[in-house]
Amino acid sequence: MDRLLLSDDISNGKERTKIPVYNDYDDEGVPNFVYLNRCVPEPSATTSRCCPGACDENCPCSSNVYKDQRVQRPSKLANILTECGPGCSCDIDCSNRLSQQGVRYPLEIFKTNGRGWGVRVKSTIPSGAVIAEYTGELSFDEMVEQNEHSYGTLSGENDVIINATNQGNVTRFINHSCNANVFAVRVKQTGDPLEHIVIFCIYKVYEGQELALNYGNPWWQIMESRFNLKCSCGSTTCRYS
Ligand SMILES: [Zn+2]
Ligand SMILES: [Zn+2]
Ligand SMILES: [Zn+2]
Repeated sequence: MDRLLLSDDISNGKERTKIPVYNDYDDEGVPNFVYLNRCVPEPSATTSRCCPGACDENCPCSSNVYKDQRVQRPSKLANILTECGPGCSCDIDCSNRLSQQGVRYPLEIFKTNGRGWGVRVKSTIPSGAVIAEYTGELSFDEMVEQNEHSYGTLSGENDVIINATNQGNVTRFINHSCNANVFAVRVKQTGDPLEHIVIFCIYKVYEGQELALNYGNPWWQIMESRFNLKCSCGSTTCRYS
């Protein structure tokens, strides 16, 4: 069967690689949202000018876990990483700004059999690779309701909700699985009060495989109590079905 291509690049040129959308399953069209490749940092309050030349592994902003454009030993990673940011004098190509450089692996969005849209990889991706930042509209109001397209994070001591319902990127299509192959890490960038959420591969992901993230207990508590949602990941270790 011919594959039905709905869009050859849902990012409209905002990512360094095109992200096509396919629907071989039903007649739903391209999802309607504004593509946002980064959560925009607030203006920097401090300037660190961390390194006089190009940043290397001794950069004070670094968590010392990036090598060859990926995280070393991702299964052992702490749940927060630090990077250079708007307070530094280095540019976006700095090796300590890995999560800020956009999608570098070929991905595609496709309609799954009964689990909505999903994301799969078009070539094998190494463990520890960055998929992308989880982007969306930022809300600092704790009364804002979380929904299936939102993610709670922190700014200083305050809760922030990143809501990808109306604005987001390819990561808003990554489905939940209790047997995940990607994970979400909090990333602090020098001079930026907001914590970013970045999706990394835990394992090597092979060509054609779907990316799957464990959304975690807080998300499932909200979805089960409000919408009586049950997990359909089908994994033998499923915890929410
Ligand atoms: Zn530096
Ligand atoms: Zn820096
Ligand atoms: Zn730097």
